[in-house]
Amino acid sequence: MSTKTSDSKYFGRDKAPMNLEVARSEGSFLYDANGKEYIDFLAGWCVGNLGWGNKAIEKAIKNSDAPTYIYPGLLYKPWTELAELLAKITPGKLKKSFRTTGGSESIEAAMQIAMISTGRHKFLSIEGSYHGNTFGALSIGDSENRKTYPNLLPGCYKIDPPLDRKAAAKVETILKKKEIAAFIMEPVICNLGVEIPTQEFMETVRELCTKYGTLLVIDEVATGFGRTGKLFATEHFGIEPDIMCIAKALTGGHAGIGAAITTEEIASSVEGEFSLYSTYGWHPLSTDAAIANIQYWQQNKDAILKNVTEVSSLFRERLSHMKFKNEAEVRIKGLAIGVNVDDADYAKKLQEKCLKAGLLFNAEDTFLVFFPALTIEKEVAEKGLDILENCL
Ligand code: PMP
Repeated sequence: MSTKTSDSKYFGRDKAPMNLEVARSEGSFLYDANGKEYIDFLAGWCVGNLGWGNKAIEKAIKNSDAPTYIYPGLLYKPWTELAELLAKITPGKLKKSFRTTGGSESIEAAMQIAMISTGRHKFLSIEGSYHGNTFGALSIGDSENRKTYPNLLPGCYKIDPPLDRKAAAKVETILKKKEIAAFIMEPVICNLGVEIPTQEFMETVRELCTKYGTLLVIDEVATGFGRTGKLFATEHFGIEPDIMCIAKALTGGHAGIGAAITTEEIASSVEGEFSLYSTYGWHPLSTDAAIANIQYWQQNKDAILKNVTEVSSLFRERLSHMKFKNEAEVRIKGLAIGVNVDDADYAKKLQEKCLKAGLLFNAEDTFLVFFPALTIEKEVAEKGLDILENCL
């Protein structure tokens, strides 16, 4: 039985897979079972930021002498090492990491922490966004889910993009009532075709959260670890979140892990409340992979981010000259790239045609989204962009 047939027979999915069966991956390339090469402009959707098969992280996992498993209630040195590294590299006063297995769980943890710390249980977020597949995360995401499944969490309010002065005024109207536990957003919204908020919006929102006692939760699950040209996208705006959620590129794809990081003061307020227990949160191998990833970043940050700037310019230049069916809007922050082609059907067909021709990216609604590895070579990026242009 072919993989495609047994996948459709036995494998639970909420939508059909793309027509690419991966047998091997390396750097910015995927290979199918027949050895056909695909240029990967998706990097697992903001996971493989260092390219597939980073040697330093692979070595750390292979050479790991970590115990099989550690019960969360015990002490374990690498946990404290990872938490200390995260405290060092994240902005502002973020210091204490709550361990999780991935992005959705980090968002759930952040929501719990915000509820306990503020004594409130309502949330504000950006309309159309995505923060994960759990009930809390879905409730603060796209309101379409609420229409289809009306039993999602009550008290979740949304602000429509664009995220400018007008939107900030709406935020104030809602926060003013002092009922909102947390305002949650991606600092650059990868899940909305790379929606980039204005500096004024971000600064105002930070001030309003402080003024009205709402916690600012920044979801860096997709943007974290260099995606937008800074280690964390929050740094573009010079603001300090109260809680930051990370996952995905925290291990570059080598293992599953996540974290909700907060200040000492907020962390101390959650003691003995709710449940932030996570059986597989910070599994020893994932912990080793995350530590190796951060150490790699510490040694190579300047070179990686220089490449992001250069390849980002290349994408901007090439994409702005391409003849899409309709006039396209190109949104770029580092290597988070969204192109609004204004036609969902066209976007999907173009994505399928490019995949056949050996280039992988996503079509999301009317957007083409590109999240290549931050280490992608310019020649490979050019080759991928040539495939795209030839398929137009
Ligand atoms: N937040 C953001 C911004 C995401 O992009 C995602 C996943 N795409 C999540 C949270 C959920 O992460 P996970 O799939 O690891 O639960």
